[in-house]
Amino acid sequence: MPAQVTNYQCPACTGPLHFNGRSGKLECEYCGSSFTVEEVEALYKKEDEQAAQAQQQLNAAQAAAQSAQHEGEWEETSSDNWGADAAHMRAYSCPSCGAELICDDTTAATSCPYCGNPTIVPGQFSGVLRPDYVIPFKLDKKAAVEALKNHYKGKKLLPKTFTNANHIEEIKGVYVPFWLYDGTADADLIFEATRSHVHTHGDEEITVTEHYQVRRAGTVDFEAIPVDASTKMPDEHMDAIEPFDYSELKPFSNAYLPGFLANKYDETQEECAERADTRAVNTAVDMIASTVTGYTTVDAVSRNVRLHRGKVHYALMPVWLLSTKWQNQNFLFAMNGQTGKMVGDLPVDKGKYWAWFGGIAAGVAAVMAVLLWLL
Ligand SMILES: [Zn+2]
Ligand SMILES: [Zn+2]
Repeated sequence: MPAQVTNYQCPACTGPLHFNGRSGKLECEYCGSSFTVEEVEALYKKEDEQAAQAQQQLNAAQAAAQSAQHEGEWEETSSDNWGADAAHMRAYSCPSCGAELICDDTTAATSCPYCGNPTIVPGQFSGVLRPDYVIPFKLDKKAAVEALKNHYKGKKLLPKTFTNANHIEEIKGVYVPFWLYDGTADADLIFEATRSHVHTHGDEEITVTEHYQVRRAGTVDFEAIPVDASTKMPDEHMDAIEPFDYSELKPFSNAYLPGFLANKYDETQEECAERADTRAVNTAVDMIASTVTGYTTVDAVSRNVRLHRGKVHYALMPVWLLSTKWQNQNFLFAMNGQTGKMVGDLPVDKGKYWAWFGGIAAGVAAVMAVLLWLL
């Protein structure tokens, strides 16, 4: 029998509760009641714990079954691939409508495809898998659509049909798993720098170039370098929607999730550490190099950086994903669900591009003509 997902229900009318970023509360669409995260947490504490425990037993049973499968791997059969795919899917039952839900094994929050109620998959965020922090959604779906329109605005090369709001195919609010790395970088950098002066001596112009060797050493402390921990998210989009405002980090609670999608990490903190290391090294080098001023040229000739890795925290960050399709091409946009920062590529309409480009060329020609006239 499949394990049940959790539906957070309104204590007043049993309607489904959704987390609303604007009010920071869980709200019932049916009777209009609202509840704080703490209130809902208290109501569901026991149920969550029991569900998580049942889920962990199921996970252990599945892991045992999988390792048993692995032992027999020498006996290759044609059903192996199917078995591998199926191993990443899980079945649950919805307590509201009784339907069976099939989810990817990283799904932690979703909605029931039959009754539409927000559902939390127990056990995905409990025990050692429990995130330390969450930044709750602050901006809603309407704000995401509005931000996309603003993103289009002023982009003169966009085809008109593309900017129509009805071209948005899908909007999803997703809590994306991130690793936050603390650390320290000791950097020792050597630069070759020059300073040039020009003197005139009679008819001659003399350039004097002084050569310097500049050395800078320093220590840079890093706190919470974010790296997204999901292979399902495009790394460039996730890097580009930063920064998040860490002053609004909250201790994690499942009660922030109803109404959104959430996945647990599928890249470990060791796998993601290299991206954090690269960022720490580059930032430390840039910061220290920026103190070398007052020279005509500066070239780095050697750099020696020692990284000391510190604590790693697990956090969920709010992201709106919007996808559009135009002329058989897919475009993905991401908006920071806390700050509203929007990133994504826009298509360019060739016809419009030339009209615009031609317009500029005509403008330049007109200015040239006026200048010539004045001469
Ligand atoms: Zn209600
Ligand atoms: Zn359902």
